[in-house]
Amino acid sequence: MATESLTSLKWLSRFLDETPGDKVIGGIPRQVPGVCWSRVNPAVVPKPTLRLWSNEMAKELGIRAGEEEFLSGNKISSGMDPYAQRYGGHQFGNWAGQLGDGRAITLGEVEIGENTFELQLKGSGVTPYSRFADGKAVLRSSIREFLCSEAMYHLGIQTTRALSLVTTGENVVRDIMYNGNPAPEQGAIVCRIAQSFIRFGTFQIHTMTGNYDALRKLVDYTVKYHFPEHSIENDNKIIDWLKEIADETALMIAHWMRVGFVHGVMNTDNMSIHGLTIDYGPYGWIEDFDLNWTPNTTDSGRKRYKFGNQAHIGAWNYARLLESISPLMDRPEKLHQALEYYYEVYEKHNNLMWGRKLGFEQFNSEDDEIITELSNLLQNSEIDMTIFFRLLSSIKKPDVNDVKFAFYNEEKILEDEWNSWLNRWWSRVNGNPDQEKMRQSNPKYVLRNWMAQLAIDAAEKQDYSVANELYELLKLPYEEQLEYEEKWFQKRPEWAKNRVGCSMLSCSS
Ligand code: AMP
Ligand code: MG
Repeated sequence: MATESLTSLKWLSRFLDETPGDKVIGGIPRQVPGVCWSRVNPAVVPKPTLRLWSNEMAKELGIRAGEEEFLSGNKISSGMDPYAQRYGGHQFGNWAGQLGDGRAITLGEVEIGENTFELQLKGSGVTPYSRFADGKAVLRSSIREFLCSEAMYHLGIQTTRALSLVTTGENVVRDIMYNGNPAPEQGAIVCRIAQSFIRFGTFQIHTMTGNYDALRKLVDYTVKYHFPEHSIENDNKIIDWLKEIADETALMIAHWMRVGFVHGVMNTDNMSIHGLTIDYGPYGWIEDFDLNWTPNTTDSGRKRYKFGNQAHIGAWNYARLLESISPLMDRPEKLHQALEYYYEVYEKHNNLMWGRKLGFEQFNSEDDEIITELSNLLQNSEIDMTIFFRLLSSIKKPDVNDVKFAFYNEEKILEDEWNSWLNRWWSRVNGNPDQEKMRQSNPKYVLRNWMAQLAIDAAEKQDYSVANELYELLKLPYEEQLEYEEKWFQKRPEWAKNRVGCSMLSCSS
């Protein structure tokens, strides 16, 4: 039983000690040139109440549940030294200047054995980087972050984690669809955790403003603590370090494609230097397979961040990271090697991923064709991605009737095309796919948009049972869990098709 208190953990403040910071303390929104952070205290909230708790994350930290006063930022213990990180970023392809933690405040880092974890409160008030907003978060988006980050972890996908969700006892006003209908919503704070919350944009801001001294200190810091097996003493070493970031980023995106996750806002400020899925906003999960789908209504015109674009956007963002490191290079043209490596390594991860999803013993170059054919068929059918791959992981003969349940409209199945593809696949796997392995790559349960919405609807009425049930369910996404099958192994219900929060999401949170 973990019995430690948050206050008794070993707190560090390495980032504050070793990178340049703001001399001013406090949270009036402003430009803070040349620094990596500003000290700021979380806002005090009227009635912090613990609502969701990750017993697994707590176990890793070795702490007990409760302590709302700390998890809401109402109290700061000795050792904590709260700050907001400064970063910039390209938003939807355009340089946006200084952004930074506008509604996130890091309490500090804790050392647990070999690891260090940064603990950050999301939604605890104004910081110098809040621009025009209030620094708060609503229950709706906090539940989405809590459930999805824990679900991603259990899917085996690199992600920031969540420890707790606390409601604050105060209302926050939001205009959910930005259409002139502001309304009060319950406020909440998630305590999220990662090795660090350093982003591509954390480096970019210094290069874009010509602060190369700050850039060097930040890079030195990042490599020293987070990539200790690397160094930046010459161009080749820098490239090696950057290649590792390419590898992690590509792997993360290949995993997103595997499970049908669409991040929704892949701005460079939302790209973790560790290749962690970060900043859960208007993300969504593919139900009816569609490479052109994006959950983010703000992006519904250009669809820059649609499902099928994510690998390409990963490269674009990575190229911005490379540019931001270029002032440290003697021969910046060498950075092309790193970008080429991203493409290579993405292809490697992507092939491996498809091979596993389809039960190949090994991926061959001829397999491109069977995959392209499948992708086209999925695109042209109204078919549920998760259910299709899961059923494929247990069918005993190549017959479309055995995956019928995955189709949204059973009247409109392209039977001949499907049977022809299934037969092709069946002979590729010699009539004997390793379905046990396939089931480890094709989850049965993911956090479908309407599932999260049901948890939110209940929680807004003080009922957290749905959120807790989903939290438990999604700890074992690859297991059959037959007791939940009828309820959660389901296609999108009719009511969710056009509902805000399910098919339409915005950045409002
Ligand atoms: P996002 O698109 O959520 O990653 O946020 C983009 C930028 O807006 C980041 O710098 C956030 O910190 C900031 N931001 C988002 N929501 C708020 C808010 N409620 N208050 C202050 N800043 C915010
Ligand atoms: Mg963000």
